[in-house]
Amino acid sequence: MEHDVTEGYASKKVPLRFGSLKDANANARLTGPCFDTVEFWLRVEKNIIEEASAISDGCEHSVQAVCALADMVTTIDVETAKSIQVEDVLSVVDEFPESSIHCIELAISCLAAAIDDWQRKNEPAREQLERLKDLAKANVKKGEIRTLMVMSGKGGVGKSTVAVNIATSLASIGFSVGLVDVDIHGPSIPTMLGLHHIQVFSTEEGKMEPVVLGDLFNLKVMSLGFLLNKDDDPVIWRGPLKHQLIGQFLNDVNWGPIDFLVVDCPPGTGDEPLSVVQQLKHKAEAILVTTPQDVATVDVARSINFSKQLGLPILGIVENMSGFECPHCHRNTPIFRVGGGARLASAYGLKFLGSIPIEASVGIATDSGIPIVQRAPQSAAARGYEQISLALASSERR
Ligand code: ADP
Repeated sequence: MEHDVTEGYASKKVPLRFGSLKDANANARLTGPCFDTVEFWLRVEKNIIEEASAISDGCEHSVQAVCALADMVTTIDVETAKSIQVEDVLSVVDEFPESSIHCIELAISCLAAAIDDWQRKNEPAREQLERLKDLAKANVKKGEIRTLMVMSGKGGVGKSTVAVNIATSLASIGFSVGLVDVDIHGPSIPTMLGLHHIQVFSTEEGKMEPVVLGDLFNLKVMSLGFLLNKDDDPVIWRGPLKHQLIGQFLNDVNWGPIDFLVVDCPPGTGDEPLSVVQQLKHKAEAILVTTPQDVATVDVARSINFSKQLGLPILGIVENMSGFECPHCHRNTPIFRVGGGARLASAYGLKFLGSIPIEASVGIATDSGIPIVQRAPQSAAARGYEQISLALASSERR
């Protein structure tokens, strides 16, 4: 009979989450007054503890305490993990003797030290972001509106999503922002901001009152969607009426004092975007949105030439759907070629403003009516929009 090498080991079960962790990005080891030493490993991504494990060289209660705590904090955010108390751990362990409570206290202290380790390592990124926000605020001159026209060579590249998230992000930083949707045939901004069944009113001077976002009072919105009876009403207006309506939407809205006016333009380089540029009373600056596969086509180049011919300065290029961000491991897979936006920018002597990955949560947020920068501010897409907004706000007026 063959000797079973596993004999004697099979019954020895290793407790769940006992041991070290591969790919950990935070760690701490602590020795308690009882001379037990415990150690925690964490893998934290965007404030969430994706995985945790721990060891203890102490008694079975100490092992039980560290493993239970490691299990409790897996998949929760670091601040919640830090608020866990002895009673919380007691509620998940079986028959824990009063005399061993110090084992739970040691486990909690060691976990807090591991979270501190992660926060220390991530401090520079947070500080840098705050510095960028201060720089952007210093760059914006109160009382001078900057009109940002979000344009694309064709539809479906995420132009409206970019416009909504940039506007929301600028408002969250503290700027007063107007967002206007002149995408006559596909006014999607009301849906993206959850603004259904809204009625628009006029002032005595005949100006339209924008809709003020409930939780972001410094973001005001105007969209053709507010004038349609139902979300799926088709828009079949003919040329001159369309031109007139675009003019009204751009110039006859009572925005009040705003720092930025973000304009979601119709796609392409046809009559409608032309009508926008021709009728805008303020001097505007363009932001071009493209997808990685789109940059190989002539669409973006056409948008660049269109802007140049109309004397519309281009602030830069945004690459949307730039690789797929896995919601589980957060690795980025370049489904389409990545980096095309940056290459295009350098070929035309333009600034590359940043990229946004494809994330299922972007579409989910859009459908829910809460932009991703508000719904999941720690996501890669939200941070991308924030960086782009900061780059725009800190840029020199063109
Ligand atoms: P456009 O204004 O260029 O026509 P939209 O902003 O309406 O494009 O976006 C088209 C679709 O793509 C929407 O369903 C939107 O939710 C989705 N989308 C846009 N950007 C992303 C992204 N980065 N990741 C995943 N889905 C996206």
